[in-house]
Amino acid sequence: MGIIVQKFGGTSVADPQKIHNAARAVIKERENGNDVVVVVSAMGHTTDYLIKLAKEVTSMPDSREMDMLLSTGEQVSIALLTMAIQAKGYKAISMNGQQVGIITENIHSKARIVDIKTDKLKKHLDDGNIIVVAGFQGVTPEGEITTLGRGGSDTSAVAIAAALEAERCDIYTDVEGVYATDPRIVPNVQRADVISYEEMLELARVGANVLHPRSVETAKQFNVPLRVRSSFKLDDCGTLIIGVENMEIYKPVAGIAADTSQVRILLSNLPDIPGTAAELFGALAKNNISVDMIIQSLASNGKNSIAFTVDADDLDSTLKILEDEKSVIKADEILTDKDIAKVSIVGAGMVDRPGIAADMFRALAEKNINIKMISTSEIKISCLVDKADSKEAIKALCKEFDLESQEIAVVKGDLPNL
Ligand code: ADP
Ligand code: ASP
Ligand code: MG
Repeated sequence: MGIIVQKFGGTSVADPQKIHNAARAVIKERENGNDVVVVVSAMGHTTDYLIKLAKEVTSMPDSREMDMLLSTGEQVSIALLTMAIQAKGYKAISMNGQQVGIITENIHSKARIVDIKTDKLKKHLDDGNIIVVAGFQGVTPEGEITTLGRGGSDTSAVAIAAALEAERCDIYTDVEGVYATDPRIVPNVQRADVISYEEMLELARVGANVLHPRSVETAKQFNVPLRVRSSFKLDDCGTLIIGVENMEIYKPVAGIAADTSQVRILLSNLPDIPGTAAELFGALAKNNISVDMIIQSLASNGKNSIAFTVDADDLDSTLKILEDEKSVIKADEILTDKDIAKVSIVGAGMVDRPGIAADMFRALAEKNINIKMISTSEIKISCLVDKADSKEAIKALCKEFDLESQEIAVVKGDLPNL
């Protein structure tokens, strides 16, 4: 008998009927003879609602209190799912992050898990319980409640699977697996039966929010076989995510995603002297602000310009830092552009295959889509475009790289609140 970790996202526990449906999926796994640990998200759009509520109270909520507030969402769903499992005659117990001992760094709103205590989990399993654990939350060694960032329940589930050396971690959601792009944008897009950790990680990082990037990172690090599957079609195995060494054939492009959560900042006419970039990005790093794309123009008249992108949530802090450091970072002008989207193609098969970037640029040009910035890594090419063009760009790229299918993907959830 092995341990299976199951995770149910917000849509899968959005109302009492769906909670009973999730309970049936849990019991099905239990009846297969496995020990089951379940991780759940907050019901439906609860987390969005709680964030909205806090912003109605104050425009600058304290990050510790935000974590205190947001962690309540998952506490509701663990209790309700446990009751549903018990009502079907099975032994079950709910646990929050603190009760389990999901230890994180001392950072609010985007903490990383550093350790998971397994003693209580193992004891409850030995006592014959199905355990239902609150996702998205942890606790610092000092006892402070933290959260892992939006979508973080996926990471809670994979980290628990790794800690318990589970056989598999199943992520139950409102689509039937991992598709080559978001099926809400391209309904007739191919679904992957199997995809490598490496490709999934890049896709998650560039905006495929079907999985939290750190969940894939953790699965890869600890070699946890991961499945993304539908909570509404329990017999369908969905998509399996495994190590690259187990895969042989690659398409040049496995997936496409758009990230609309970034903003671009342009600093014009900076002095072209050594140390400018170090000062600029050093100041941002010191304040925990991650920079994604960077482009620097060729110098002329002893000046050059630097443009970079940051998360939209970090825009105000970034502008404040630039203002505070203006005696060192001497730009003539600071311009921001919020209407941007980063569209990326990802595929392990593009390594050593020239021409993929040119195909991407041509496909965008044929739709008259202007590229504002470009960045590449070994298995990814990203283009910054106008936000208004992002859906059309994704559709054009799906066509260009043969990622369309005859079938229409089934998406059960409501549109996420954006
Ligand atoms: P959950 O609440 O179950 O965690 P999420 O909303 O976080 O669900 O993730 C599922 C959603 O991810 C889908 O409804 C789909 O719109 C979106 N998505 C984005 N990219 C992809 C992709 N490549 N494959 C499947 N779903 C995707
Ligand atoms: N409830 C959290 C969110 O909505 C975590 C999760 O669902 O994974 O982001
Ligand atoms: Mg999610």
